[in-house]
Parts: sequence; structure tokens; C-alpha cells
Amino acid sequence: MADRYLRFTGTAPGRFLTQRLGLPQPAALTRWSAERPVLDGGLLHLTAGRSALDLAPALARTGPGPAGSGRTAAVVLDATGVRDVEALAEVHAALHPVLRSVASSGRVVVLGAPLDPADHHQAAAQQALEGFTRSLGKEIGRGRTVNLVRLTDAAAAESTLRFLLSPKSAYVSGQVIEVGAARETTAADPERPLAGRTALVTGAARGIGEAVAETLARDGARVVVLDVPQAEQDARRVAERLGGTALPLDMTAADAGARIAEALPDELDVLIHNAGITRDRRLVNMPAERWACVLDVNLASVLRTTDALLKDGTLRRGGRIVATASIAGLAGNAGQTNYGASKAGVVGMVRSLAPRALDEHGVTVNAVAPGFIETKMTAAVPLFIREAGRRMNSLAQGGLPADVAETTAWLAHPASGAVNGQVVRVCGQSLLGA
Ligand code: NAD
Repeated sequence: MADRYLRFTGTAPGRFLTQRLGLPQPAALTRWSAERPVLDGGLLHLTAGRSALDLAPALARTGPGPAGSGRTAAVVLDATGVRDVEALAEVHAALHPVLRSVASSGRVVVLGAPLDPADHHQAAAQQALEGFTRSLGKEIGRGRTVNLVRLTDAAAAESTLRFLLSPKSAYVSGQVIEVGAARETTAADPERPLAGRTALVTGAARGIGEAVAETLARDGARVVVLDVPQAEQDARRVAERLGGTALPLDMTAADAGARIAEALPDELDVLIHNAGITRDRRLVNMPAERWACVLDVNLASVLRTTDALLKDGTLRRGGRIVATASIAGLAGNAGQTNYGASKAGVVGMVRSLAPRALDEHGVTVNAVAPGFIETKMTAAVPLFIREAGRRMNSLAQGGLPADVAETTAWLAHPASGAVNGQVVRVCGQSLLGA
């Protein structure tokens, strides 16, 4: 599983050789740890166009202090006031002089406004920010990330800014995230925002699910570690370590929703649909069973249990659903028509259900779409395909389960109520897909 190439390029001879050969230069990413919870350096707040946002209070609570003469860890460019092509020049004028000073593993966050259907000049200028963000993400290098947040209300976007301006978002780049109107924007205990809440993670006996359970437990949640009965021992081991409970259950059971509700001591606050399988074959060689089981685990069971837990009120108001898609569902992948279909289906579910679930149940529904993540699933991929998968993204390396887990924790945060219906890729800005 270890990325030996990344370690090799981190040595002086390795860097020398790979630079000479024009090979990718992945930077060691700075990730969250208890010892290093915030980015090291200051935050530069710039503006293009005339902005009506009052960002200062939200930015003051995001982590990096104001940029002084020291290191610049992050730049926030408020471009919400860019309403025409002429004003785009201010984007260039603001960022061009400062980019070189942004530290390795630093952050650039561009803030944009929703596209105005009544003003095509504003819409053109704001859409331009998307192409700008994605292009800058591809060229910025040194483990630095670039993301665009479309927002109308700074307070509602605080949890999102805090995530993007922290080491927790190390593998999230080239994303466009829309944040809606203000909902609940604070957590009682910022250190343990999920304290007193129950989170259920499916497929949590290992891999990404285990990391998600661990991160939600770190954030204070009581975790329920659900996995198939065959993985019960591993699920118990994870649950014990995290002070949670294990729930052996196959999510494809017709009554999975009812059995989850029955097993919970109380209601549920956070539902993470992480369980997933692959059964790869090109369509011409794919027997119907391989098609059916992937669609059943990855999509049908997700729809069924979501419906059941919303309908019977097990998921309480203020709740969060985070489903797991994949870049294979966005870009497609040879040999994965079944998997790609199932993961695209998850995206469809999220987009349609999100506004209704929020209106009717007070629950947000979002998805994470991982790219190449270093797990047992990807360790099983043949060497050359694995190497290509690892390098074909702007950060030139695979992500870690913790990267997906941190993104999930941001979406599950009590202060993320204004983030709804989003599909956030955790893919280091993979070259595949949009
Ligand atoms: P994994 O195979 O390591 O873990 C998946 C877990 O889900 C296993 O513990 C398995 O027992 C459990 N599971 C499978 N079917 C189940 C069922 N019917 N009921 C309950 N549990 C079940 O996989 P992973 O790499 O950790 O992936 C987790 C999720 O992320 C999956 O949905 C996967 O499709 C998605 N994903 C992974 C990657 C990657 O690079 N690893 C990329 C994109 C998406």
C-alpha cells in the first residue's frame, strides 16, 4: 500500500533524478494531527470587485492568524462582487503578486456568488471563476490546493471555510462548493462538535469506513460500527477502540432500516453510507449477478435504508446523511459499468433528496466522491494501473482514508447545515471527470 515513489521523491537524490526525468513531483502533504491542528502561517484576505460580505468574523475563527510578514499559509480571495469581465482583471491583480509566497501545503480559497439568471454578464464572470479555480489547482503545485466556494452569507459558510483553510482538506482541490442560507452555524463545543450525537457508519470494519468512524469519534460522536456479519470481529475491534458499538448487518437486507432503528439506543444524528463493493468486468463479459450485487449494495440499499430511517423519524432534525459516490460515477471507468452506474445513482439521489429532506426532516444530504484512496480496495489493483491512478491528479499521489473521513466530518458537523446537496470530490483534483 505504501507509496514508495512519494518517499523517494522526498529524498535529495530522488528529487534530483525525478526532476531531470520530468517525472511527477508529489509533495508530502500536511495533514491534521492533534499536535498540528491548524495551518502554520497567516491568512491573507483579498478582494476583487465590490463585495457586500462581512467575512472578517468568520475568517477570524478559521485557524490561521492574519498574514503579517511571516509565512502565508492561506489566501482567501473574495470575488463575490465580480459582476463583469472587466472586474475579472482584479482577480489577476489580487492573486498574481502573492501566489509565490503561499507556503507548501497552503490554501487558496476563492469566494464566488451564485450565478444570476437575470444577468448574463454576472453569470459569465462568476462561471469564469470556476475555470480559473480548476486551472490554478492544476498548476499551483507544492501540495497547495485551490477551491471555490459560492456563498451568500459568510456566517453560514464558516464551517466550510474552517475546513478548507485547515490541514483537514489536504486532498480536496479543484472543487466548487455551494453554501446556502444560514442555518445553525455553531457547535456547542468546537473541539467535540458531535458530542452527545450518535453516528452510524456502514462498512466501518476497515478501510475508509473505519477512518470515518474514528474521525467522528474524535469529534465526540457515539459511533455505531456497522458491517456484514462476516466482518463482525473486525467491527467489534473498531467499536471497542472507539468506545462505540458494533452492528453486524448486511445492508442489502430488506429490513435493514428497521433493524438499525431497533439496534440504536436512541435516535440517529449522522448516517454515513460508506459500505460499497466492486465486481469489475467489461459489460460484454459481465454476468447479471455481478451487475445486480453492486447495484444492490452501493445504491438500492442506500435508497432503501435512507427512506426507512427518514420516514420513521429515526434520523432526527438537524441530522446529516453523507453518502459515498466515486469519481468512477462522475467520469466513468472501463470495467466498471456496474460500479459507475451505482455511484452516479448516489449522486442523483443526493441532488434530488437534499432540498426535500431539509424542508421536511431538517436533515442535510451530501456525498463524498473519493478518487484514488490508499486502501485494501486499491492495493488489489494491478501495479501499473495503480501507479497511474495514484499520479493522475494535481497532487500526484493517492489520498488516505483520513482525507475522506475529514471531508465527511465537515459535512456531518452541526454547523454545516447550509451545505446541502453537494457532491465533494476527495481526489486531489483527479484528471478524470470534471
Ligand atoms: P473496503 O472494501 O476496504 O471496505 C468496504 C467495507 O464495506 C468492508 O468492510 C465491507 O465488509 C463492507 N460492506 C460491503 N458490503 C456490505 C454490505 N452489504 N453491508 C454492510 N457492509 C458491507 O472499501 P474502501 O476502499 O474502504 O471503500 C469504502 C467506500 O468508498 C466504498 O463505498 C467505495 O466504493 C468508496 N470508494 C473507495 C475508493 C478507494 O480508492 N478506495 C474510491 C472511490 C470510492
